[in-house]
Parts: sequence; C-alpha cells; structure tokens
Amino acid sequence: MKDGDKVERLVRRSPTSLPPKLCPNCLKPLKPLSQLSGWFTPEYYYCDGCGYSGAVALESVKDEDND
Ligand SMILES: [Zn+2]
Repeated sequence: MKDGDKVERLVRRSPTSLPPKLCPNCLKPLKPLSQLSGWFTPEYYYCDGCGYSGAVALESVKDEDND
C-alpha cells in the first residue's frame, strides 16, 4: 500500500536544483551572500531589486516535505 508513496518521493527529489529564494519585499530572486569566514554561517541573502539584505527569504515551494 505504501509502494506508490515511495516512488513518488524518489521522483520528487531533485538534488541539483535548490528551491529559489525570493525577496520578501519585492518577490524577486535573491542572491545568496556567502560569509567569508566564521564558525557561524547563517543563510544570508541580497536582493538586487530593492536592496534588501537579510536572512529572511521566501521559498517558492508549494509542497513542504518534512522528512
Ligand atoms: Zn527585493
């Protein structure tokens, strides 16, 4: 009964394509800011459209899968 579910999960996995992060202000694609060094590297993004920069980013994924 769970076979179909299993297959679907495998197909859905796409390791090469990360979900794009969108700007919370103007919904444009964000550019990831890579921290140069440090023991703590939070996710940080920069928006070319409105100049927003921060750790808050929207994900354009509809199906959230907590595994
Ligand atoms: Zn923006």
